[in-house]
Amino acid sequence: MDERKIEKLLRDLIWAESDEGETPVDNIEDFVQAGICTNNRGLIVRFQDGSEFQLTIVQSAEPDEDEDEPDDTVVCLNCGTRLNQDEGGICDRCFAPQNTLGR
Ligand SMILES: [Zn+2]
Repeated sequence: MDERKIEKLLRDLIWAESDEGETPVDNIEDFVQAGICTNNRGLIVRFQDGSEFQLTIVQSAEPDEDEDEPDDTVVCLNCGTRLNQDEGGICDRCFAPQNTLGR
């Protein structure tokens, strides 16, 4: 989700309510259309009774990056076994080569 998307979502929701006759909206503009000079995105909602509201959209957190990268499992650099640790490396078996010398 980003500011542009939630702006569209809000616009669609407000218009949908207006279409049902609950909130008679006269017009909705975004800040760019309305010529408002601000770094924020937002909407200006004007109702048919003449009242008008500015809805400023301020993103207060970035999306969780982890959700887009679910497959960041750490594997042993030597044998490819999945490791229960955060940083790359080699597994205990590969780390202790003396265990394999006795074969
Ligand atoms: Zn290994």
